[in-house]
Amino acid sequence: RHFSSSAAFRIQERTLIAVKPDGVQRRLVGDIIKRFEQRGFKLVGMKMLQAPEGVLADHYHDLRQKSFYPALIRYMSSGPLVAMVWEGYNVVGTSRAMVGETNSAEAKPGTIRGDFSIHMSRNVIHASDSVEVAQKEISLWFCSSELVDWDSNFYQV
Ligand code: UDP
Ligand code: MG
Repeated sequence: RHFSSSAAFRIQERTLIAVKPDGVQRRLVGDIIKRFEQRGFKLVGMKMLQAPEGVLADHYHDLRQKSFYPALIRYMSSGPLVAMVWEGYNVVGTSRAMVGETNSAEAKPGTIRGDFSIHMSRNVIHASDSVEVAQKEISLWFCSSELVDWDSNFYQV
């Protein structure tokens, strides 16, 4: 029996990735999708939307006391974003490594922020930072009917 058909491998980790409004304005959506596809992750949900204020308030609830919070909400509301759910082995940790440091000035070349951004406050992409947070963020941004549970018989880790 091929390993990918066993239940243990079908129940996969998922993460929320969002191309932030600056990434959409700069036409980086395709480049970002490409990196996740070529790494071997599976796209299970994607939509473009103008983020509702309430969703952003929930999403960044833990940062609400920070001085940069009002500017962060303005930035995230400044135009449409592209929200995605990606699935695969260790996708949360690997995505964070692919995205790079929060402060783009410190993000290593080869990471998404390190290749596309220089500012902390215009850092192109969001990625969930733990499996628990990922589950909360996915249910905040997507309803279950928007997530597609498809079999990748071509390639699966
Ligand atoms: N942010 C900012 N100034 C800061 C820290 C964060 O503008 O000093 C913004 C930035 O867009 C960042 C987001 O707030 O991506 C969320 O911060 P977090 O610490 O969760 O960073 P991330 O998980 O996105 O790397
Ligand atoms: Mg974060």
